[in-house]
Amino acid sequence: MQETGTDGTISFHCDFCRAAWDEELAMVEGHRGSIICGRCLSVAYAELVHLRSGRPCQPGEKCVLCLEEGREDPHWESPTRDGVLACRRCVKQSAGVLHKDKDTAWSKPPDPAEA
Ligand SMILES: [Zn+2]
Ligand SMILES: [Zn+2]
Repeated sequence: MQETGTDGTISFHCDFCRAAWDEELAMVEGHRGSIICGRCLSVAYAELVHLRSGRPCQPGEKCVLCLEEGREDPHWESPTRDGVLACRRCVKQSAGVLHKDKDTAWSKPPDPAEA
């Protein structure tokens, strides 16, 4: 999310953990300025893709990255912010983007089944 401080400066924060965007932390933007950071993406990817956990959207909820309501694929919920969800499609897409991004050291978490 984008926030405007009292002094007018604009800052960017991960929608899921509210970490501020800085040089160290890789981030991916979704629709309408939503953002997921590399740390959250690693957790979300491991849970949704490797562990096949997650839960479907409840009525009125939506993935903050694609803003689609009622998607049936599993969603990862922010551990600190209730109802802030990312669908598996967005998590996989974002992981693919960051994985290829040469400006960041982020890579997809390894599959525990292959470790
Ligand atoms: Zn985060
Ligand atoms: Zn989504």
